[in-house]
Amino acid sequence: MNRFWVRRERVLAVLLLAALVGCTTAGGQRGTLFQYSTIDALLTGVYDGDMTFAQLKQHGDFGLGTFNALDGEMIALDGRFYQIKSDGTVAPVADTMRTPFAVVMFFNPGRSRALANVADLQSLEHQLDQELPAKNIFCAIRIEAEFATIKARSVPRQQKPYPPLVEASKKQAVFEFHNVRGTLVGFRAPEFMRCLNVPGYHFHFLTSDRQAGGHVLDCKIIRATVQVDETPTRFLMALPHGDGFQQADLTRERHSELKSVEQGAPNR
Ligand SMILES: [Zn+2]
Repeated sequence: MNRFWVRRERVLAVLLLAALVGCTTAGGQRGTLFQYSTIDALLTGVYDGDMTFAQLKQHGDFGLGTFNALDGEMIALDGRFYQIKSDGTVAPVADTMRTPFAVVMFFNPGRSRALANVADLQSLEHQLDQELPAKNIFCAIRIEAEFATIKARSVPRQQKPYPPLVEASKKQAVFEFHNVRGTLVGFRAPEFMRCLNVPGYHFHFLTSDRQAGGHVLDCKIIRATVQVDETPTRFLMALPHGDGFQQADLTRERHSELKSVEQGAPNR
């Protein structure tokens, strides 16, 4: 199949998906969760995408993801995009940079509540589950908190040929912060999305001074304000153009790999 047909099929697939979810114009809509590529592609080692951050910003001011060559963790907050590198530094993201995987939306919280004395990430997720019983839709969650402790990781930039994520994450840097203020940006994705997105909760963290953060592995909260946006009932997904994505074997079940990568098992 030549490149033209591959491209045409891909465009048709994305348009069809957009039509199925009732979204007739691309991007920028409130209540639309936008995702670039799939979590299984990232697990396979598809670390280069063709979407620039200038393009990604058209679809949201809030979200998470990573960078080409898997060069750190991305967090987007109030329209500002940050790169948390594996050396622990944080830098603003240039519009020309590209992502192989990202999830964004325009955050429009419907309600907020206070939390206190949350022992760990599992307890936080359990408390959020009590608040958010509708598990077959996406939720976007922003938590401003004072943490007793928080453990976060970042992944190091990879060289080609890219290893699968379960291998790459064995070299992740894990940061532990104590008595720190900051923000969690995250989503809860429905279980049925498991090949496309991270089912359940996925949080990235940024300190309030914007100097540190990462993909959250665990946290103990002293007090927090939780804001939830349950409006993303539309889902728009774009797929990469490159050969890495086209040639990836996306037929395998990778849920156990995802669990290991998301929960930081390689370092435990
Ligand atoms: Zn992450």
